[in-house]
Amino acid sequence: MVIHFQILLKTCIISSEVFEKAQNIMKLRSTNSKADRIIPLNTKGQSLLSGNIFCGHCGGRLVLTTSGKVVRMRNGETKGTKRIRYICYNKARRHIECDGQTGYTMHLVDEAIEELFTKMISRLAAIDNPAVINNFQEESVTKLQQKLETAELKMEKAHADYSAIKQKVKESISGTSQIPSGLLDSLADDAYHTLIQAEDKLRFLSGELTDAKEHISEITKIHHSIRIWSRIFDISSCEAKKMILTSSLKRVEISKGYKINIIYSDVIQKMMEALE
Ligand SMILES: [Zn+2]
Repeated sequence: MVIHFQILLKTCIISSEVFEKAQNIMKLRSTNSKADRIIPLNTKGQSLLSGNIFCGHCGGRLVLTTSGKVVRMRNGETKGTKRIRYICYNKARRHIECDGQTGYTMHLVDEAIEELFTKMISRLAAIDNPAVINNFQEESVTKLQQKLETAELKMEKAHADYSAIKQKVKESISGTSQIPSGLLDSLADDAYHTLIQAEDKLRFLSGELTDAKEHISEITKIHHSIRIWSRIFDISSCEAKKMILTSSLKRVEISKGYKINIIYSDVIQKMMEALE
């Protein structure tokens, strides 16, 4: 029985095709994980944002630092406090000349971001009908649909032309056509190329239309999430807040005097623009 099993194992050699497939899957996974790195790997940290927060002066990454301090209480007892700050990595390491502030107290930054974010989601959630947001998107869908119809007509015509010429070629072979075969050949070539081009155009436009429709449904989905977030964000756990934030924004830049600039995801930015 054991021997039998060993033989079985030996014969289980992976074909090169399967091996390649497995390699590709692994490659895809590793690139995907890089693309997703904006989502914090360690969401247990204390800060609301880590990894996508930058210095508004030099563009460098802001990193968290902690420093301990012992405070003497009134009753004579001592108490240790921990101070957590975001500092500009470039400035701290003197990598690049940075005229920004050296550090920003973490909880002040986080509170300010939360406040700005809450305002933004409540503004967007107040839109009753996401179709208002989609209007400009739907316009592009309508335009694409019209183009697609024209392309379909062109393709039908190209198809009919090509069929007609094929018929002439058949007649020429049977000797019933008066058209010289050289001319027929070149006409058939032209008709064939026109048909191929029409088919390509149609395929391209169908793809564009599918993308545009998907984009609209994505906006609708995100708007739906925003309405939920607007109700639960302030009572959410730090973990949940982080997840909501990382899925909504690309990066945050902080400048002197706690000036905060939030760069939201493309879809959210478009919604905000539509409101202006
Ligand atoms: Zn800086």
